[in-house]
Amino acid sequence: MANKKNTFLLLNYFKPSIYLESFKKINLDSLKNSGIKLVLCDMDNTLIGWNERIPNLDILNFIKNVYAHNMEFVLFSNNVKSRVENFAKKAGIKNYFWDCKKPLLGKMKIVKKLFKYKENEIILIGDQLVTDVLVANRSHIKSILVSPLSRNNQENKIVQFLENHILKKLSQKNILHEGFYNEGEIGGNYEIL
Ligand SMILES: [Mg+2]
Repeated sequence: MANKKNTFLLLNYFKPSIYLESFKKINLDSLKNSGIKLVLCDMDNTLIGWNERIPNLDILNFIKNVYAHNMEFVLFSNNVKSRVENFAKKAGIKNYFWDCKKPLLGKMKIVKKLFKYKENEIILIGDQLVTDVLVANRSHIKSILVSPLSRNNQENKIVQFLENHILKKLSQKNILHEGFYNEGEIGGNYEIL
């Protein structure tokens, strides 16, 4: 029984606070009202396909809108400096971090130190459970999972295998079903270890 319970708790590490089809569906008023002040955002397959380089109008509008809501926007990517910097500059993003090594906590600690917001004032948007949602839950911050813009990417095969495996487990446990989006509740708490 103890074992079963542990599996369940571990799976909760992969549970996003909110699950949406796209960053375009994010309700910034609602985030603002929930007290969010800092929006961390993954880049590849969240804002832009892995094979694209130029931010489109939707992305530009979204970022402008975040700033207009008086929230900080920080690009938080595992990709290399040249790609992240190029995208950030074109998209008018002031703060960006590359080589974040999500789900490791190193860069997240730096961000928390730099911006000095409380954990419940920070949210992370991303398309991957094993990197984005996991690092958010490990850091005790909220997360928004979005569907990846493209499935076919250069992501290493092990990450893709793990991602699919966890998606399947989450579905079996009725925690999350792929494609069944859920506005969630940002204040909703679930048990994690
Ligand atoms: Mg991604």
